[in-house]
Amino acid sequence: MGSDCLFCRIVAGEIPATVVRETATTLAIRDITPKAPVHILVIPKEHYADVATLAQGDPGLAGEVLAAAAVVADDEGLLGDGFRLMFNTGRYGGQEVFHVHAHLLGGAPLGPMLARDLA
Ligand code: AMP
Repeated sequence: MGSDCLFCRIVAGEIPATVVRETATTLAIRDITPKAPVHILVIPKEHYADVATLAQGDPGLAGEVLAAAAVVADDEGLLGDGFRLMFNTGRYGGQEVFHVHAHLLGGAPLGPMLARDLA
């Protein structure tokens, strides 16, 4: 996508980020406003707007994002106590940056899945 996309610009090195892991196809960076002791964003370098577009367009790359997240979770010491991996998607999902990213959250008990029950 390029110059309009924040995460494409981070991938291109135009905007600084704290990179914790890089592969040929993925980048993992620390979230600039962490919501947990560990809060890392795992993104594919190639631009896909959201997880549905990614999974439909390149399921192999979607798997590489998950695999990268698992390695980072291990590196961060999260496998024992657990963690949360989530993709905010679209308006109802609260997505703000439209370059797909997995939020890897951990390092403390994360509480309920949603702030309140919407059912
Ligand atoms: P979402 O609401 O799922 O689209 O999440 C976007 C995330 O990107 C938020 O958690 C932001 O704190 C994070 N974020 C925004 N700008 C940056 C940046 N320059 N570097 C790292 N994380 C960022």
